[in-house]
Amino acid sequence: MNLKFLAKSSSGSPYTVSFEFTDGDITASCTCKGAVFYKMCKHLIGLASGDESFLYNPDQRPQLKTLQSWIESTKLPPLLLSYNQAQKAKEQAEKQLNKAKSSIKKILLVNREE
Ligand SMILES: [Zn+2]
Repeated sequence: MNLKFLAKSSSGSPYTVSFEFTDGDITASCTCKGAVFYKMCKHLIGLASGDESFLYNPDQRPQLKTLQSWIESTKLPPLLLSYNQAQKAKEQAEKQLNKAKSSIKKILLVNREE
């Protein structure tokens, strides 16, 4: 069985994300650069996690449900959950870091002259 999705991309034109389900194993691929270089990308993880915000075409919600049922038959759900929790924590930490940095900058004026 095979599912193809169009995933939103920051550049505008969508990426094609494919999932193949054979004998209980899922093979996934995405046409973005991240997937080509690292064999993993946020589109693959986002769609595998059932995140509708990655769908370029909202009409593909039913296919996303099908993908979810495939995912649930594997060992992926707890791994995706811990990935997504860590990702959220990372974003919060980055936000906090930027806030702290700009507060420090207001007080500690860095001398840019050599
Ligand atoms: Zn991708």
